[in-house]
Amino acid sequence: MEREDNMYKYNPKSSVAEEFIHDGEILDTIAFGEKNKNNRELIESILEKAKERKGLNHREAFLLVSCEEEDLNEKIFALAKEIKMHIYGNRIVLFAPLYLSNYCINSCVYCPYHVKNKHIARKKLTMEEIRQETIALQDMGHKRLALESGEHPIETPIEYILEAIETIYSVHHKNGEIRRVNVNIAATTVEEYRMLKEAGIGTYILFQETYNKKSYEALHPAGPKSNYAYHTEAMDRAMEGGIDDVGIGVLFGLNNYKYDFVGLLLHGEHLEAKYGVGPHTISVPRVRPADDIDPEDFTNALQDDVFEKLIAVIRIAAPYVGMIMSTRESQEMRERALEIGISQVSGASKTSVGGYADSEDLEFDPKKSEQFDVNDTRTLDEVIRWLLSLGHLPSFCTACYRNGRTGDRFMAMAKSGEISNLCQPNAIMTLQEFFNDYASEETKIIGKKVTEEELEFIQREDIKDYTIKSLKKIDEGLRDFNL
Ligand code: SF4
Ligand code: SF4
Repeated sequence: MEREDNMYKYNPKSSVAEEFIHDGEILDTIAFGEKNKNNRELIESILEKAKERKGLNHREAFLLVSCEEEDLNEKIFALAKEIKMHIYGNRIVLFAPLYLSNYCINSCVYCPYHVKNKHIARKKLTMEEIRQETIALQDMGHKRLALESGEHPIETPIEYILEAIETIYSVHHKNGEIRRVNVNIAATTVEEYRMLKEAGIGTYILFQETYNKKSYEALHPAGPKSNYAYHTEAMDRAMEGGIDDVGIGVLFGLNNYKYDFVGLLLHGEHLEAKYGVGPHTISVPRVRPADDIDPEDFTNALQDDVFEKLIAVIRIAAPYVGMIMSTRESQEMRERALEIGISQVSGASKTSVGGYADSEDLEFDPKKSEQFDVNDTRTLDEVIRWLLSLGHLPSFCTACYRNGRTGDRFMAMAKSGEISNLCQPNAIMTLQEFFNDYASEETKIIGKKVTEEELEFIQREDIKDYTIKSLKKIDEGLRDFNL
C-alpha cells in the first residue's frame, strides 16, 4: 500500500528525526487503522501479502493491530506462529545483561538511575569486578552478553566501556568464554561508534523509549538524553560509524502504544531505506516496578492481550528481525510470546551492578542498585530445561558476527532462508557445550532427546555430517565449532 499524500515532509530517507519519524504520518496511520478496523477485505488482502514473508509497511501492520474481527485476529496469531516456525524453527537464542555502572546524568522519570534519585546505591564496576562478573556468567553457561551502563562522562567515558569490552573478551574461565558482546549505552558520536565497532561489539542497542516528541521531552526533562533529535538519530550515526547491526525498541507503557508501534516500524523503514539494512533486533520491554518507580504512575500500561498482538504483528511485519524479550516478563508471558514471535530471551538475569558474582564488598549490596524488578528469577539451567520441555531448541550461537555475517550480508542470507542451514547446527553444537559443561543431569536427559530430534531438521547432508562429527569432538572435550 503506497502512501497517497504528498503534503507531508515524511521521508524515510531523510536523516532528520522529525522527517523519518513523522508525527503527521503516525497520526494518519492511526486514523487509517481506526477507519478500517472492520474492513475485512482489506485486512484479508494484507494477510495474503504477509504470507509471502516479505514483511509489511507500517500502515498495513497497524491495520492488523487495529483489526477487531475475531476470526481475522485468530488468523493474525496463526500467521505469526507460522512465520516464526518457518524462519526460526524451534530455536531460541539466550543472552544475559551485564550492568557496568548505574551512575547517570540523565533524568528519565521511569528509571531508578535518574540523577535525582538520592537513595539508590551507585556503583561502577572496576575491571577486576568485571572479570568476576564475567566468570560468574561463564560459569552459568552464557556466551552472549548485553552490556548496560548509565551515561556519565566522568565515571563511564568511552575509554571505560572499551576497556570493559576488552576485559570481558579476555576472560576464559574453564571452558567458558563470552563470544559476543552487544552494547546498550547512551547515544553518542560517530567517532565513538567507530571505536565500539573496532572493539568488536555485536549489536548496538538503543531504545527510543517513546517516539512521541512531546512525551519524550516530558519523560526526559534534563541531561543529554533530553535532546529528542540527537537520540532518535543515534542509529544513523552508529551506521555511519560502521556498526551495521543495530537494535531498536520502545518502553511500552510510557506513551500511547499505537503511536509507539507505528514509530518503531517507521524507524525500521528508515534504516532500510537509507542504509539498505533494517534493524537487526527489536526489543519489546514494558515498564516494571523499581526503586523510586511505580508503574501505576504510567497511565499507558499495556494489557497482556494487546501486548501479545503487538508481538505477533511485529513478527509478521518484520519476519527476519530478531525479537527480544527480557526477564521483565513472567514465565507465562514468555511462554506465549515465544510461540508468536520472540526469538531471543535473557536468562537468569541480574539487573543490578555486580549482581552475578558474590560481592566481597560488604558496603555495597548489588540488589540495591537494580534497574528494575526481575519477574522471571529462574536459574539458566532451569530456563534451558523449561525451553526444552516446551519443545524449543535453546541456542548459545554467536557465529554470524564472528564470521563477518553482519548488516546486509546477514540480511541477504536471512531473507533467502540460507541462514537456517547455519542456525540449526550452531544451536545444536552450542547446546551440547552447555550440556557437557554446565547442565544438571535432569536437563541433559531432556536435552539429549531434543538434540536427536533437531538433528533431523538439518536439510543438507554435508552439514548434518559436520554437526554429528563436531558433537563427538565436543564430547571429547573440544569447543567452539560453528558454521
Ligand atoms: Fe540513565 Fe538510561 Fe536510566 Fe535514563 S534510562 S536514567 S539514561 S540509565
Ligand atoms: Fe544468530 Fe547467525 Fe547463529 Fe543464526 S547462525 S543463531 S543468525 S548468530
